Amino acid sequence: MRSENLRELHKRASEIATSLAANFEWIPREENAEADALSREAYYEAILEEAKSEEAKRARLERAEKEEMEVEQVGENLYRVKGKYIVNAERMTCTCADFKVRGEICKHIFKILTMKMRREGRK
Ligand SMILES: [Zn+2]
Repeated sequence: MRSENLRELHKRASEIATSLAANFEWIPREENAEADALSREAYYEAILEEAKSEEAKRARLERAEKEEMEVEQVGENLYRVKGKYIVNAERMTCTCADFKVRGEICKHIFKILTMKMRREGRK
């Protein structure tokens, strides 16, 4: 499913690139930190924006904003929340029961996203 989507997106991107006569050059991620951060930020923003339009998600987002949670960064995109749940900010996963049951963004993931938006955003 996912690779199917990616294939379709790749095809569309290639068509657009061809129509623009654009050239692409591979730039390693570590030399591309700013663009990487910007695209990530846009992605988080879209997720947070989408959450506001859905009642259940908005409630979780609001809880994440109100609730004090101890957050510790334990890897490049990994965070330990409340000393027990591991949030992967890149894959948008969490080890809590809420995420496992629903498979939707939980308040811990929302907490990390809002934190990252505040830290990386609006320079
Ligand atoms: Zn969680």
